[in-house]
Amino acid sequence: MSSYHPTDNELQQYALEGMGLGEDVSTHIQGCAACSAKLANYRLLTRQISALQKPAFDFNLADLVLQQLPAPKAEFPWIAALGVTLTMIFLIAVALLFGTYLLQLFQNLPALFGTILTASAIAIFAGMLNTMIKEHHDQMKKLDFN
Ligand SMILES: [Zn+2]
Repeated sequence: MSSYHPTDNELQQYALEGMGLGEDVSTHIQGCAACSAKLANYRLLTRQISALQKPAFDFNLADLVLQQLPAPKAEFPWIAALGVTLTMIFLIAVALLFGTYLLQLFQNLPALFGTILTASAIAIFAGMLNTMIKEHHDQMKKLDFN
């Protein structure tokens, strides 16, 4: 029997993983009352800790956070409505004042140029729509707590 007493760290490792000690140290523990008592204590502690329930919140965190978020504004967006109205009035005025000239302009456009213009407009619109949808999905993902 060796006179070397394993350290607390080594005993804890041994209790936790069941290995890591040399054969002469294991023999020492069997013969040494102090070390075998320590090892028994560490084994008991390990069992007790692993039997403990995992801690969990007893409240719904998502509900708590959502309560503290500012409520979405339900009031009518007057400034945006005013902007849209003014833009519409401007566009109608332009159409009334210069409608015949604009019509002539588009009638005289070469067919290929008109097609390219239309295709470009559709492509830009599709790209913007795709970006909006992606952003929306990302934001919804951030809000999903589950
Ligand atoms: Zn010992």
